[in-house]
Amino acid sequence: MANLRFNVVERAFKKRPLPVEVPEMRPAEYYGKLVFNREKMYKYLSLEVYEKLVDVIDNGTRLDRSIADAVAQGMKQWALDNGATHYTHWFQPLTEGTAEKHDAFVVHDGKGGMMEDFSGKLLVQQEPDASSFPNGGIRNTFEARGYSAWDPTSPVFIIDDTLCIPTIFISYTGEALDYKAPLLKSLRAINKAATEVCQYFDPNVKQVHANLGWEQEYFLVDEDLFFARPDLVLTGRTLMGHDSAKNQQMDDHYFGTIPERVQAYMKDLEIEALQLGIPVKTRHNEVAPGQFELAPIFEECNLAVDHNMLLMSLMKKIAHKHSFRVLLHEKPFNGINGSGKHNNWSLTTDTGVLLHRNGKTPEDNLRFVVFIVETLMAVYKHNGLLKASVMSATNDHRLGANEAPPAIISSFLGTQLTELLDHIELADKEELFTFEGKQGMKLDIPEIPELLIDNTDRNRTSPFAFTGNRFEFRAVGSEANCASAMIVLNTAVAEALIHFKKRVDTLIAKGENKTSAIIDIIREDIKTCKPIRFDGNGYSEEWKQEAYKRGLDCEPSCPICFDRYLDKESVKMFELTNVMTKNELLARNEVKWETYTKRIQIEARVIGDIAMNHIIPVATEYQTLLAKNVKSMMDIFGGEEGKKLTESNISIIKDIANRIKTIEIDVEELVNTRKIANKIESQRKKAIAYHDTIAPKMEEIRYQIDKLELIVSNELWTLPKYRELLFIR
Ligand code: ADP
Ligand code: MG
Repeated sequence: MANLRFNVVERAFKKRPLPVEVPEMRPAEYYGKLVFNREKMYKYLSLEVYEKLVDVIDNGTRLDRSIADAVAQGMKQWALDNGATHYTHWFQPLTEGTAEKHDAFVVHDGKGGMMEDFSGKLLVQQEPDASSFPNGGIRNTFEARGYSAWDPTSPVFIIDDTLCIPTIFISYTGEALDYKAPLLKSLRAINKAATEVCQYFDPNVKQVHANLGWEQEYFLVDEDLFFARPDLVLTGRTLMGHDSAKNQQMDDHYFGTIPERVQAYMKDLEIEALQLGIPVKTRHNEVAPGQFELAPIFEECNLAVDHNMLLMSLMKKIAHKHSFRVLLHEKPFNGINGSGKHNNWSLTTDTGVLLHRNGKTPEDNLRFVVFIVETLMAVYKHNGLLKASVMSATNDHRLGANEAPPAIISSFLGTQLTELLDHIELADKEELFTFEGKQGMKLDIPEIPELLIDNTDRNRTSPFAFTGNRFEFRAVGSEANCASAMIVLNTAVAEALIHFKKRVDTLIAKGENKTSAIIDIIREDIKTCKPIRFDGNGYSEEWKQEAYKRGLDCEPSCPICFDRYLDKESVKMFELTNVMTKNELLARNEVKWETYTKRIQIEARVIGDIAMNHIIPVATEYQTLLAKNVKSMMDIFGGEEGKKLTESNISIIKDIANRIKTIEIDVEELVNTRKIANKIESQRKKAIAYHDTIAPKMEEIRYQIDKLELIVSNELWTLPKYRELLFIR
């Protein structure tokens, strides 16, 4: 069996970069080639249908069923012209991935033959066999069916021979069974709330949309090595493995040259991504060996989420082509950095104003401050919920594990912005704002130099950092659907803006000047949300204590964090903004707890199997070898000398025996603990039991295995080691 390890290592060593076919055209020319974008809509649809469709996309007007057939015809023609034979509704169930069911365009032609057809009805709505997707019991209750419905705001695209149609996925009773439906509702909520606030400053603003620029981190592992690690294959992470003697201590990977095979993979990935309209821009090595990052130019939030989901599946496909496996798991390897997916988020008006960027005039800066402060209000009020939105069994290894962002949400603003907020909070109201008769008002909101704000001290430990013209939510996991975090963030900020406006309007109704009223409320809010501001080291022990004193959510247990979704304040927020009902929240939490349990359950089974079937046999084999050696040494030397010469081997034999014994006991305990947990009816309590009793037991087993890896002869060890997984590429 150890042969397998040496074979795969040898094979991996010999691999050379795959030549990448670079299109003859420039990237700008093949960008969006496989997307039914406006240019193609214009070409394939009549002018009337085109205009109606664009109105649906831009202004959210209802899709007129009468144009659906015409749109479907145009789409079908474009798809056939590009070699597609099938179509699918493409949606995002609560399983983090995407789902699709492919159908051919063919129908009976009524004359015994076939013809290619695609109707508006098929474009707009379908009924995937939904019972196999997690639904938290929603569909079990009454109507057992769910359906997918077209989201015209995200363009259809072609993958291989299939036309993919982005859709929402909901139950027949209207509850969301996916991420996209509530995401779209949250975007509607923030659009409405932010537009109304913007109109204080500019009545021409008719719409506000959220932007998202994600930075996707990932690991690449040689595919042959990957298949020799059952834990990677089945759980996406290594459940054991001793630190490589060299890992990231030298900090030499980050800006080092990208390895050739990886470079070829990235090139290939970028070409395909660009053809699918994903505006990929940045690629580089990350901190850990074997870790990389890819980031696009930011886009409208819904589209950006779709593009990230699409990219993650592309990454897997193309990695395979280059004989790699991509690991999207947040913590594939102990002892080195994990992977996140920073979500850069901001708001833009339809008049082209980036609301999270400081302006040139005092009025613009007041608007800027309003959006900064109300974002902080949202993050402050719902910090526990925001954390819950990024928590998962896999991201659990990263949050609070003394790396990446800590398990406490706080916001870094940098000195420039902090000074500005302090000034507004502490200055005399008269100083800030005077209403000078005929000359109008005088507003003292100092300008921040653009350059300064962009280059201020960046704090890498902050989970929610202001980075010049946006906030960067860094706690999102690399494997996650960004929508989960974006739903909560958009909704929370929408709620904060609604409350802000209500209070300002009340003052105005009492006769106060508008700007003066805005300043009053903003000063109040700067004080209120102060506890969320923290510019220090987010990993430090002092911060944990300080955060606790400030009343921030410090709960580290993932299944308990999910409770935040059902807090009174959270339900109120989701209902006020029409994003989710209490029923949906309840059902979705069931799915979260169940998913948590399943992930740990699978890991526990795998580690048990590997411990008994791989590790113990190998350790025993080595122990036998040593015993034989001792015996023959004693035969040769005998007596005191023999004893002395075999001393160290005997101690290793004992060490191995003790560790094997401990592992056997632990594995048995692991099985028993699981049996107890599995009997628990409540999904919540079961998840908590898995978190509290099973996950720690796995760590104990791992500890023993990693020690054995150091002792047992390298020749015999069957599982590819960290140094092989991380450095061969
Ligand atoms: P860094 O690694 O320094 O954080 P990158 O340039 O790698 O920055 O990635 C930043 C991401 O943020 C990119 O996707 C970029 O397009 C996006 N971004 C830049 N400005 C904004 C903004 N105003 N709103 C949202 N995203 C933004
Ligand atoms: Mg970043």
